[in-house]
Parts: sequence; structure tokens; C-alpha cells
Amino acid sequence: MKIHEHQAKSLLRDFGVAVPGGDVADTPAGARAIAQRLGGKVVVKAQVHAGGRGKAGGIKLADDPAGAEAAARQILGMRLKTPQTPPEGILVRTVMVEEASAIDRELYLSITLDRGRSTHVVMASQAGGMEIEEVAERTPEKIFREWTHPALGLGDFQARRLAFGLGLTGDRLKQGVALIRGLFALYLARDCSLVEINPLVVTKDGRVLALDAKLNFDDNALYRHPAVVALRDVHEEDPLDVEASKYSLNYIKLDGNVGCMVNGAGLAMATMDIVKLAGGEPANFLDVGGGASPEQIENAFRILSSDPSVKAVFINVFGGILRVDRLAEGVIAAVRTLGLTLPVVLRAEGTNVELGKKMLAESGLALTMADDMADGARKAVAFAKGARA
Ligand code: GDP
Ligand code: MN
Repeated sequence: MKIHEHQAKSLLRDFGVAVPGGDVADTPAGARAIAQRLGGKVVVKAQVHAGGRGKAGGIKLADDPAGAEAAARQILGMRLKTPQTPPEGILVRTVMVEEASAIDRELYLSITLDRGRSTHVVMASQAGGMEIEEVAERTPEKIFREWTHPALGLGDFQARRLAFGLGLTGDRLKQGVALIRGLFALYLARDCSLVEINPLVVTKDGRVLALDAKLNFDDNALYRHPAVVALRDVHEEDPLDVEASKYSLNYIKLDGNVGCMVNGAGLAMATMDIVKLAGGEPANFLDVGGGASPEQIENAFRILSSDPSVKAVFINVFGGILRVDRLAEGVIAAVRTLGLTLPVVLRAEGTNVELGKKMLAESGLALTMADDMADGARKAVAFAKGARA
């Protein structure tokens, strides 16, 4: 799960990480009031779940409250298009108004999970304000990394080594070390999957501040962070993803046109592989779960069929906890209520498979039965390409 910059900054504040003063507004007048309160120059920043806002016109400096109001009027309601947004952009509904910082240096700092090493990694670089992927590709020697100890966490010596790597000295070094430690404490305590500060800045008056803040959370740990869940902004998420999460379906949209409905993550992976092997492209990853109910099947079907890129549906299930007759019940109900016209190919094995197939055959639905996974994939791909299977 992702959150907005202003939400991330308020979490940072809770953990003693220095951020510029500011607040969030959804009207130009509101932005003006915040600027008035802050006094002096401010920055007005579009709040969307995507980076690259600066270059896309989503961040503006203003000299006074009137300027802040004008900037907010321009930014609010715009569709911000950056390399990190969908091609159609994201509608800006709120802006953050923040005291402007006089920047001396822009640095980079992030924390994430290093799966290869099975622990967290803190990364720092003096090349702040630019895409870290670019830095990693062109000048990898400019990135410093410290891997944390699974039990001891981030050592003070590691925080210092990173701060030295950032070229900080004297009082700035102290501030940098404190900031790195605060960030790591936040990352651990809130089960983040990513904390990225780009840029971390040193101001002309010698302060070390998080000027931007990106926080992602591990979805599997959200159950123990209701306060984090409350920060969710569904406007920023794909509507189909939001629907899927309502019914605890694991759904990930992909670029192809063969809709896949599968139970079990391993089988879902195998299904995508075999669709590709058959010369097709899966339109999604959808795991309805081992113990899906007929209602979940129906909802899964509704989500699949509301994706216009889906040209054929391949149902591939193993009836274990989910018996095949219950699956059939869900499929029949879904196709009836949705008036589905898409070709559907079914491959099923397991408990009550004969009964399930009989129910489907007698339902009068235009289903194509498959003998096995390969046969099902071949038929679904053929339908998606517009041919008869
Ligand atoms: P992003 O483009 O979405 O990553 O948004 P950032 O918050 O990282 O801002 C982009 C850039 O805008 C930063 O790298 C800075 O160069 C500039 N910027 C943001 N806030 C300030 C500020 O308070 N003062 C100055 N001078 N520049 C700022
Ligand atoms: Mn940034």
C-alpha cells in the first residue's frame, strides 16, 4: 500500500525525522491560508501516488500567500502525467503547502528489503534529486549500502558510515545520523516495504531535512496497523484492484487478453506460464484462494469481465478445499447475472469434478471444456485471438 507525501511526512515527524513545516489543502483558498500561517516563501506540491512531479509541473514555488493560492489553482484538478503515472495521468485532488527550503545539497536515502540477503538494506547517495535507477546504472559506485542485522537492526556505526558517505560533517553529520536512525525505526515499526527520501537536503542554514518522502507498506502486515490502513486513498488505486481487495482476491492486472481465473498462487503462476507457452498473453493474475466461495468466484468473474482487454477467460482450478461443484455453482451464477458473452474455457480437476462438469454442461452456458491445462490454454488463446478453438 502507498500513501501520500504529506501523510508520509507526518509519520516521519512522529519518529523524530526532520521535515519542513507544512499542511495539506484541497482548495486554493485553503492553500493560501496555510501559506499565510507559515509565512515567507512556500512550495505547493501535488499529492498523488507517483514521483516525478517536479518535472511534470506538479510542484511550484510561491513567494507569498497570493502566489500559493495561484499555484494551487493551477495544480488542483490537473491530470498529472509523469513516468510513474498511468498514461492518462492522475487527477490532483489535494496539494501540500510547505515552507520553502533554501537548498545547498540534494542527497538520496532509502530503506527496503533485500530479498537476496534476507534482510533490510539502507541505501545512501550524494546523487539526490534524480532517479536512483539511473544512478545505479550509470554510476553504481555513488551508492552506499548498509545491510541491517536481523536481530540487532541498524548499528550506530552503520548509520555513521552512511552519513559519512553522504559527505556530511560536523553538526550535519549528527543530524544525518539521527535522521537515518529515525527512518529505520519507522520502517521497522510500521512494516514498511520501502522508505525513500529523494531528495534528502542540506539547507543553506545547515539543516538536514527530508524534502520528499515516499512510504510503501507491506500489505500482509496491514492487519496490525489500522492507523496506516486509514491513510489509504482508493482514488489512487486501479478500480479493479480496489474491487478485488474487497473480496480478498489476489488480483494483478497484466497487459494481455486471456483472463485467468485460478485457485492457488502456484497454479496461477503455472497458468500464466502455460498461456504464454500456448502463444498467448495473460490479462491478469487472479488467485481466488484455495477456499473460495461461490460468491468469491462470482465477484472474480465480474472483475475479469469488466476489464475490456479480456477477450477470453480461462478457468483453471484444482478442487481441493474448493470443490468443483461449488466452483460450478459460482461460475453459473456469475455468467447468468452478468449475461457474459465472452468465451470461457474450463479445466478442472479434483473433488466432485464429475458433478461440477455435469452441472456446467447442463447449465446451457457456452463453456468449452478442456482435457488438461495445455489443452485449456491452447483453446483460450485461440478464442482470444478470435479463432474458434
Ligand atoms: P518529485 O519530483 O515528485 O520527486 O518531488 P520532490 O518533492 O522530490 O521535488 C522535486 C524537486 O523540486 C526537488 O528535487 C527540488 O529540486 C525541488 N524542490 C522541492 N521542494 C523545494 C523547496 O522547498 N525549495 C527548493 N528550492 N526546491 C524544492
Ligand atoms: Mn522526489
